[in-house]
Amino acid sequence: MALVNEHFLKLTNNYLFADIAKKVNAFKVSHPKKRVISLGIGDVTQPLCPAVIEAMHKAVDEMAVQASFRGYGPERGYDFLREAIVKNDYAPRGIHLDPNEIFVNDGAKSDTGNIQEIVRWDNNVGVTDPIYPVYIDSNVMIGRAGIFENGKWSNITYMPCDDTNNFVPQIPDHRVDMIYLCYPNNPTGTVLTKEELKKWVSYAIKNDSIIFYDAAYEAYIQDENIPHSIYEIRGARKVAIEFRSYSKTAGFTGVRCGYTVVPKELTATTLDGSERVSLNQLWNRRQSTKFNGTSYISQRAAEAIYTPEGKKQVKETIDYYMTNAKIMRESLTRLGFKVYGGENAPYLWVKTPNNTESWKFFEQLLYGAYVVCTPGVGFGPSGEGFIRLTAFGTREDCKEAMQRIADWVTQV
Ligand code: PLP
Repeated sequence: MALVNEHFLKLTNNYLFADIAKKVNAFKVSHPKKRVISLGIGDVTQPLCPAVIEAMHKAVDEMAVQASFRGYGPERGYDFLREAIVKNDYAPRGIHLDPNEIFVNDGAKSDTGNIQEIVRWDNNVGVTDPIYPVYIDSNVMIGRAGIFENGKWSNITYMPCDDTNNFVPQIPDHRVDMIYLCYPNNPTGTVLTKEELKKWVSYAIKNDSIIFYDAAYEAYIQDENIPHSIYEIRGARKVAIEFRSYSKTAGFTGVRCGYTVVPKELTATTLDGSERVSLNQLWNRRQSTKFNGTSYISQRAAEAIYTPEGKKQVKETIDYYMTNAKIMRESLTRLGFKVYGGENAPYLWVKTPNNTESWKFFEQLLYGAYVVCTPGVGFGPSGEGFIRLTAFGTREDCKEAMQRIADWVTQV
């Protein structure tokens, strides 16, 4: 008799976007003439840039000819892409990586979810709260999270980030083995300074912990003092794995490509403490067993981002979204909202007026301005009393949404 993995059945609070869709559909049914604008989803709207399109066409043509056809590629990704990553994403920031420390993937979601497989099921986990739900849910699935009570998992340490601590997570006063950090942050859109990040690296070195550093929104950093990579901190190579994605950097949400950095210095101990094991080797073993690589076409597309034209074009799209973010920040601030994020990230984290619950404010905004947001509490208990807005819409939608919110706020 095959028994289910009962840990999957614990994933009860996992319907955020389905719940939103249900409520939006109910609104549309009762208001068929209203055009709803969504500032809720985390997907991009602008097309791939010309340099990427050209590289993809070329790669497709190569696939059509026997002499240049490609089947399975190298497990960690093609050399051309891993070398471009090392040279363009890291070397200019003084970080010297070996291409064999780079694992090309089909986007950051798979690896941020799967990485926990290479450490024991009974390690404990720390997350900043609120947070991108994949980190917690992937640990729930393997049975590491414990029991869900009062909105929290018993084996997970939540590090609250809200307006009372300026969204800076406090270092835990006890040992946490696996720490998930995401900067620039989804959902709050906030960043960590080098000084703050240093504290985490020191903590991880002291406690022999591993930091899983999700830098999926790194390309949105505007402030030159903010670190783009955890490896800008001395010692981080011994304790941190970093995730990057082309999804938000270059509109690859539908193309699928990203990468994970697992430094060779990074090791973890065996249960009896007799040996330190290379996590680069373990991850390579895991990937070569369960993953057969990212398509050649996607990898050529990613490589094109590092050409001079590609860099310029990608930056133009990021500037477009960040201009949306600025328009939103300014409009909402003018209306009296307390707005966080949106300066080094495409997300704005807005405090609801008068401590209105997130879901209640979601409904008010939907019925009052026909604008969809994401209720902050869906990202964790410390998200209660906030909503997330994304800057990934079109300029027209973004401006119209702000106008509608202004009209609505001045009416009520
Ligand atoms: N990490 C964070 C923080 C995200 O917000 C997302 C997507 O929204 C991802 C990872 C996954 O992105 P992808 O799998 O498209 O690279």
